[in-house]
Amino acid sequence: MPEVKTTDFYKTADTRPCDGTILDGDVDTTQQLPHGLTRLPSGAIAVTRLYCPNGHNLIERSAARFNLLPGITVRVRGKYTYGELILSPIHGDDSKFGDTDFEPGEVLRISCPHCDSEFPAVQPCGCRDGSMLVGFFLDKSLIEGSQVVICNAWGCLRSRILDRFQIISKLE
Ligand SMILES: [Zn+2]
Ligand SMILES: [Zn+2]
Repeated sequence: MPEVKTTDFYKTADTRPCDGTILDGDVDTTQQLPHGLTRLPSGAIAVTRLYCPNGHNLIERSAARFNLLPGITVRVRGKYTYGELILSPIHGDDSKFGDTDFEPGEVLRISCPHCDSEFPAVQPCGCRDGSMLVGFFLDKSLIEGSQVVICNAWGCLRSRILDRFQIISKLE
């Protein structure tokens, strides 16, 4: 199991419904979240909008649902194959639909399904050679540091949700 870290506002344990995520931690459910982020009863955070570097919303076109929430559509290109993937909008939920025929650890080019803009690398992930954490924008105004960041290596779950460079939710 990957190590899961939660931030300071996660407080005392209580019983929460399980939504299939692997994030754990105790949560202040009264906290208001920015950027259209929403807190599920389980405490996990979900995104409701997410933009490419040209301002296309990656969430509006998918019919796939994760806990009733629409998924995030991206284009992915690996060594031998490419296609579209629909990712869960719930942080810590690794379920996905679409073209998933990649090798474990394969480094992918992840781009917008509308304009094919590649998502910018934020920093190396370190899980393997050449893997990078790449960032999606939480706001249409494309604010750097208010982003969802994921690793571009297939199967690596390292990811974070950032608000003005502060970590709201983190999976190592
Ligand atoms: Zn785009
Ligand atoms: Zn990684």
